[in-house]
Amino acid sequence: MSYDDVFRRAVDQLHAEKRYRVFADLERRAGDFPRAVWHAPEGPREVVVWCSNDYLGMGQHPDVIQAMTHTAQAVGAGAGGTRNIAGTNHPLVLLEEELADLHGKEGALVFTSGYVSNEASISTLARLLPDCLILSDELNHASMIAGMRGSGCARKVFGHNDLFDLERMLKEAGRARPKLIAFESVYSMDGDVAPIAAICDLAEEYGAMTYLDEVHAVGMYGPRGAGIAEREGVMHRVDVIEGTLAKAYGVIGGYVAASRPVIDAIRGYAPGFIFTTAMPPAIAAAARASVAHLKNSQGERDRHQRQALQTKIALGARGLPVMPSETHIVPVLVGSPEKAKAASDMLLAEHGIYIQPINYPTVPRGTERLRISPSPLHDDALIRDLARALDAVWDKLDLPRRYEAIAAE
Ligand SMILES: *Cc1c(COP(=O)(O)O)cnc(C)c1O
Repeated sequence: MSYDDVFRRAVDQLHAEKRYRVFADLERRAGDFPRAVWHAPEGPREVVVWCSNDYLGMGQHPDVIQAMTHTAQAVGAGAGGTRNIAGTNHPLVLLEEELADLHGKEGALVFTSGYVSNEASISTLARLLPDCLILSDELNHASMIAGMRGSGCARKVFGHNDLFDLERMLKEAGRARPKLIAFESVYSMDGDVAPIAAICDLAEEYGAMTYLDEVHAVGMYGPRGAGIAEREGVMHRVDVIEGTLAKAYGVIGGYVAASRPVIDAIRGYAPGFIFTTAMPPAIAAAARASVAHLKNSQGERDRHQRQALQTKIALGARGLPVMPSETHIVPVLVGSPEKAKAASDMLLAEHGIYIQPINYPTVPRGTERLRISPSPLHDDALIRDLARALDAVWDKLDLPRRYEAIAAE
């Protein structure tokens, strides 16, 4: 048997389903966000990026870059090992203190990515709870699902943001059985928000622990950027808050913030924490500078919300099928993987606009979309250009205009 043939066939299958992934070769330039250079087959070309998760442009903030370069100059590039082997480098200690303070928790623990923080924390917490039942929102991120699978515990999936479904499952499990409710605050493909307070009410009533992924909210919501739970005044009611340092904070890494016993247990039991090299000090210093900046600066958040709203209005005015979103995310429905890819290709080639298409399994089949993420640095002129370009592409490819019409098919 040819092993390569097996993998070739697997990749052929992706081509057949029109979801073979192609990534644009982009070069960002510090200070120029959202503009970047696209290394096209014909040569380099300037484009405007409309799909970055560096939601506030913090990856190019002078304070963040300076913290990174100064720390690298001072202490070097790498961490020197796992924390068990090499201790914890000081900037990482400071970052964890900053994050614990951000979320009003006793402690925080940093991982090399948000994915790893979810996988390691959920699997460890659920495994340590005897006969734990995990209750999981149906739209939870792949990293949370990996953690649930890794725990080996029983899992039930409740309808997205469906409190009745969740309560039915809690009731059925009974008060005595340990239960972990895992959910997100901002769901990043639709841009909707969880009823956090109501989920906490249910958790308290039925004696469940809560685990909240605030990856698409930290930095962006709440008076100090701690997320939706902070905005809604319920941060203290959530047992574990998980976040990333890679999206609005613009760097890399993930974390959980919780009570001292929870943090200590994950630190002591999670293989995804124990057996991997710690985050390098320069990265930790950059992330901390970003978190600290956004704790004290509301301007980015205000302008972010304004530009997101302006984008929704501009696209809506052109009759484009903007999906309803309560947040900064602006999803535009296409409804087929071929067409989503064609629209993305045409935007890049003819309009210098980069928006990666979103396909299955990231979103359900038939709801393929362009997911637009405006930032405070996308000004009104760029928004007008975007609306004009999308309008032209929608005409040229004869894409459906009405959200309802596609959704009903
Ligand atoms: C991106 C993402 C993660 C993973 O975070 P990384 O830091 O990118 O690994 C976790 N949860 C959700 C909901 C995400 O969208």
